[in-house]
Amino acid sequence: MHTAMVISPHADDAAAFCGGTLAKIAGQGWKVILVRVTNDSKDSVGLDVKETLLRNAEELKKAADVLGVSEIVELNYETDCLGDASKVDLRERFVYLFRKYRPYAVFSFDPYGLYENNLDHIVVARTVDEAFWVSCFDKHHPEHFEEGLEPFSVCERWYFARQLPEANHGEDITETMEKKIEALCSHREMMKNTLNQFRLQLKTWGRRVSWIEDSMEGNMRPLLALAMQAQGNAVGKQFELGEGRMGESFRLDRFGDLEEMFQGLSEPLPGAVEAPKRKCLDLPPHESPWSEEQLEQIFPVNIKDRLSLMGHHHLCVGAFDELLKDPGFQAVYANLVSRLDPAPDTEVESIYGYDLFCYQCEYWSEEEGRCVTGWKNKLSKDAAVLKHLGLETGQVTRLEDLQKRLAEKVSPDDLHRFCAAGEWKCEFYALGACQKAYSALREKFGCKSTSGT
Ligand SMILES: [Zn+2]
Repeated sequence: MHTAMVISPHADDAAAFCGGTLAKIAGQGWKVILVRVTNDSKDSVGLDVKETLLRNAEELKKAADVLGVSEIVELNYETDCLGDASKVDLRERFVYLFRKYRPYAVFSFDPYGLYENNLDHIVVARTVDEAFWVSCFDKHHPEHFEEGLEPFSVCERWYFARQLPEANHGEDITETMEKKIEALCSHREMMKNTLNQFRLQLKTWGRRVSWIEDSMEGNMRPLLALAMQAQGNAVGKQFELGEGRMGESFRLDRFGDLEEMFQGLSEPLPGAVEAPKRKCLDLPPHESPWSEEQLEQIFPVNIKDRLSLMGHHHLCVGAFDELLKDPGFQAVYANLVSRLDPAPDTEVESIYGYDLFCYQCEYWSEEEGRCVTGWKNKLSKDAAVLKHLGLETGQVTRLEDLQKRLAEKVSPDDLHRFCAAGEWKCEFYALGACQKAYSALREKFGCKSTSGT
């Protein structure tokens, strides 16, 4: 079972911004922790502070019950004064709670949200965002570890705002909209105060809306329901959730720019709860452009005995020991790596034209039937490499003999010239695996690792 934590600067923020989503995941069995940062001591109309504190706390409990929240954590900061509070102290509270409850997902205001005029929201958004990485550091707040807590990183960060500049996720809350409305109505004193602000502004304008005034004194539900549904419908439309569907919008982030890389490289941890699928983040499962049948045709029956390689791919043979076990190389050349079995006696044939590596490579264009880095460029590299090695097209070399030749003839500078960034660049050079393999190769064959030719 996963845990979600919502950081609510004030009691009503959770219901208003993500109440439908919280009720939905609570219904799916998630444990939901609600953290109220301030005490809402000023948020009421016509009540004294003591009564305000009492009622807002009671009403939060009611709303939390409606949403299926399992626990409320009170941080008790003075309301509407976070602008003056120590951000580092507040951040420590969030770090502590992340380490204690270890939430899979955290819901919070977006520090990059637009049109935010509430400093409590802004301060909480910034400090929560910092706490996401601070909580991972083993030298931040080591006193937490004395309690048995450990460094921890929240996986999913669900940001909400009055207006999100880069919303990428609309959560369908059609089925829990009722709960969201009910939870919001539970915050009677706070909602009344919200309506009162409109009443006062309308008064300055010289007008009134009697529905607002009536709602303040009586049943607020019709007015709040109308507003929440209008908002939900707009999100439903924006994210094409379907006819009549309602949603809540978020900027949902997991690994930022590194999302694609981690999806490609990661594997399940034994015993871990399966991660929820996220349409806005998850890439479609990586599919080989080739069917199994085509692969059978592409790979020669004698691939274990003979490798046919274009000129410059002879250089890769010198790095096989490292490349074939490199996770990045395996990810790109999975089909090839599983079929290759290079042995000292494997024959390496120098061919003119594309080879098996090309068909598996990210640069291969199936539409154009060619390497998108340019054929001419590859030809010049092929010719230069073969000349450097003293080989010719059509020649067949024993793999071990070729490796010896590579160890003797390819210096670190040569490898750099052939493979590092530039017109002939190879993506794998930057990984460092080839440099390492060549250095081991030179040692194996007793070649000096001097620079130059
Ligand atoms: Zn608020």
